[in-house]
Amino acid sequence: MNITILGAGAMGSFFGGMLAESGQDVTLLDINDAHLEAIRTGGLHLVTDRADRKILGFSACRPEQATVQPELLIVFTKTLHTAAALAGIMPIIGTKTFVLTVQNGLGNVETVSRFVAPERVLIGMTNWPADLLGPGQVSSHGQGEVRIMSADGVERPETARVAEALFAAGLQCRVDPAVWNAIWEKVAFNAALNSMCAVTGCTVDQLGSVPEGMSLIKAVISEVTTVAHANGVDARFEHCEQSVRKAIANHIGHKPSMLQDVLSGRRTEVGAINGAVVTQAGLTGIAVPNTEMLLGLVRLIEARTSVAA
Ligand code: NAD
Repeated sequence: MNITILGAGAMGSFFGGMLAESGQDVTLLDINDAHLEAIRTGGLHLVTDRADRKILGFSACRPEQATVQPELLIVFTKTLHTAAALAGIMPIIGTKTFVLTVQNGLGNVETVSRFVAPERVLIGMTNWPADLLGPGQVSSHGQGEVRIMSADGVERPETARVAEALFAAGLQCRVDPAVWNAIWEKVAFNAALNSMCAVTGCTVDQLGSVPEGMSLIKAVISEVTTVAHANGVDARFEHCEQSVRKAIANHIGHKPSMLQDVLSGRRTEVGAINGAVVTQAGLTGIAVPNTEMLLGLVRLIEARTSVAA
């Protein structure tokens, strides 16, 4: 399959590397010139629990240099850059191009659907982790999965084909008609852990070091799952709590991307996570004081430290 990755940072490079290694024809598009140059000259250095290797044979270029219309475009920019990134590659989004987003947060379908016909938008969730170690170097440790579905809910052969390609690349992907449950459960997880780490400077494991940490986490996931239920989504509090406890036990020293962003003076994805929950809560008349408080605090930190979008 001819696959283009839009946003070849941590996740885009990891997915792109795994897909290329499995024999897919992969193009990476990014605006990070040092990263692109390192991949072009020395390949992608991919470190996973299975092996530490160099993957060669990629096409890696800036979005404006892309010429091939892919069968599948995977969007892996941060959510706040999705619209600008898609606008920059409109010439290569063909009438047969399917666009997959497994980015965190809510609102991704709406953003992608501004650029692509709804029947060619695929939505999903992934809990694979990835970190960019430096130009041309990415790592992913531990296990994860990917769940996808057509955004309009219609099961099409193309969706199954995409899932098969991701599965064959070792990314544990399946088509899941109940994908919105997984998406909202991940939003609940991120709304609690990412914003609490961003506000406090704690690593994920440190959130479990005092009882108040777990109480606040539970309050947030209870709020988010209540809003999900009001939207007809069966997100489960117990699943979220289980994922949080697993993360606190295993992600020792891990700084979630929202904490990394505030430490680097970048804007965060809090709008697509806590912000989107607060908006949905407002529409359904549900009070989400803890989620809203964390949103406000992260916004204040962004206002104080942000130097770039
Ligand atoms: P990242 O910041 O490492 O990568 C984003 C990339 O997008 C960067 O390399 C950036 O240069 C590029 N970009 C920005 N604007 C662009 C444009 N106009 N055109 C092309 N490229 C552009 O982010 P990430 O950690 O890979 O996360 C990507 C998405 O996946 C986010 O929504 C995140 O929440 C989600 N996610 C991340 C993880 C993780 O462990 N990193 C796990 C699950 C989901």
